[in-house]
Amino acid sequence: MDSDEFRQRAKQIVDYVAGYHDTIRQRRPVPDVTLGYLKPLVPAAAPEDPDKWNDIFEDIERVIMPGLTHWQSPYFHGYYPVGQSFAETCGDLLCNGLGSFGFSWITCPAATELEIVVMDWLAKMLTLPSEFLSGGKGGGILQSTASESTLVTMLTARNVMLTRMSATHGPVGRDVKEGIDGDVFSRLVAYSSDQAHLSMQRACMFSAIRLHAVESDDKERMTGPALAKAIAIDVEKGLIPFYCMATLGTTASCAFDDLKEIGPVCKKAGIWLHIDAAYAGSSFICPEFRPLLDGVEVADSFNFNPHKWLLTSFDCSALWYRDSSKTIEAFSVKEVMFSYEHEDTTIDFSHREIPFGHRFRALKLWFVLRLYGVNGLQAYVRKHVYLAQEFEKLVAADDRFEVTHPVTHGLVCFRLRQCSNDLNALFLAKLTTDRRVYLTATTSKDVYFLRFVVCWRKTEKSDILYSWNVIREVATALLEDTKKQ
Ligand SMILES: *Cc1c(COP(=O)(O)O)cnc(C)c1O
Repeated sequence: MDSDEFRQRAKQIVDYVAGYHDTIRQRRPVPDVTLGYLKPLVPAAAPEDPDKWNDIFEDIERVIMPGLTHWQSPYFHGYYPVGQSFAETCGDLLCNGLGSFGFSWITCPAATELEIVVMDWLAKMLTLPSEFLSGGKGGGILQSTASESTLVTMLTARNVMLTRMSATHGPVGRDVKEGIDGDVFSRLVAYSSDQAHLSMQRACMFSAIRLHAVESDDKERMTGPALAKAIAIDVEKGLIPFYCMATLGTTASCAFDDLKEIGPVCKKAGIWLHIDAAYAGSSFICPEFRPLLDGVEVADSFNFNPHKWLLTSFDCSALWYRDSSKTIEAFSVKEVMFSYEHEDTTIDFSHREIPFGHRFRALKLWFVLRLYGVNGLQAYVRKHVYLAQEFEKLVAADDRFEVTHPVTHGLVCFRLRQCSNDLNALFLAKLTTDRRVYLTATTSKDVYFLRFVVCWRKTEKSDILYSWNVIREVATALLEDTKKQ
C-alpha cells in the first residue's frame, strides 16, 4: 500500500468506525455465534498473493462483526468498562502510523518526554503527593495493565527486601551469577485482601512468592488490624513480609480497603505498599472522590487504568513510584548497544519495566486530556455515577430485587431477593441468552450477585431505562416459570 492508497483506505476505516458508533444501539451487545464459528469463514492458510482491499473490507461485516462483543454498546454492563473515545483513537492512530518507539530517551525523545509530562499532568489531576511527580526521585510510567504494574512493583519490592537481607545473610540480591539465597527467598510473603484482583495471585505465582490473602471485613474491605494480625502471625512463623497491595475499588463490588489504617501498618512492618485502583482511580480526579485516596502519602507505588474509566483504549495503565530508583536497581542492565550520552541523567523506561520496548501510549492519553480537559473528564465520571444511582433507584423500587452493596461509583450490585444463588445464576444465564443486555456476576462471602456497570461513554438515562426494562422482563418470565414448577 503506498501513501496515496493509505490516505484513501484509512479514511474508509475511519468512516466505518464512526458509522459503527453512530449505529451501535442497533446491535445487541452479546454476539450470537457458537464456538469455532470463525474458522469456516476464512481460508485455511494465508493468501499466497495479496488479497483485494475490498474483499478484506467486506470481511469486517462478514467475519468479524458477527463475533464481536460490543463493549461500547450502551447495553453492555459487564466487568468494568474498557475505555474508548474518538480523541484516544486519533492519538493511537498517530502512534501506530508514526511507527516510533521510545524505550530510552535517545530512541525517541518525544515519546519519553511526553510520557513524563502526561504522567505529571495526571498526577496533578489526582492530587498525588508531590513525591510522585517527576523531578525528584518519583515519577510515572505507562504500563500495559494493572496486572503488569502489580508484578513490577512486587519484583521491585522483592529486590528491596533481598538487598536489605543481604546485610545479614550475605549476597541475596539480584545477582544472577551468585544466585539468590534460597532460604531468605522462600520465606518472603506478600499481602492483599481476599477481594483483590486475581492478578495479585498471578503476580505471586510469577514471582514465586507466598501470598497471604487477608480476610476482608463485612464491607469487603481490608482493615489495618486484620493486616497487622496477618503480618504478626507470619513473622512468628519466621516468614519475611515484604509487600502489601491495597485495593481501592475491588473488582467484585467496588469496595475500598482502609488505606489510612493500612499505610501505618506497612510502614511499621517496613514493607512496600502498592495501591491498585484499576477502575476507581479515575474518579479521584473529582474532589468529592479524592478522600478515598487519603493515605496515599505513605504508599510506595500507585496504579490505575485510564483504559478502564478515562476514555482511553486498552492498553494504558498509569503507575507512579515514590522512588523510581528502587525499580531501576531491580530492573536495569547495561549493554553497549543501548548506551548514549545522556543515559545517566534521563529517564529510560526500559529500565523500569518488564518489556524492553515501550509503546508510545502517552500520545493517546495526551489527546484525551487535551480534548476533554479536566472539566470534561470530571463531567464524564460524574455522569456515570449519576446513571448508576438512577439504576440503583429502579432496582430498589422493585421489591423482587435487592441492592446488595453500596453504590459509590458506576457499579450497582443486585440480585433477586430471597432467591437462591442458583436461581440468580440462572437469571444471569437467561439475560445472556436474551442478548439485549450484557451483565456479569460474581460471588462474594457466599452470596451470588449480578453486577450492572455503566460502561459506554455516551450512556443516557433512556439507555439505563431500556436495560432495566429488559432485566425486569427476563426476571418476570423466570419468576413465573419457577412458580409454575
Ligand atoms: C480490572 C482490574 C484489574 C486488572 O486490570 P488489567 O489492567 O487488565 O490487568 C486489576 N485490579 C482491579 C481492582 C481491577 O478491577
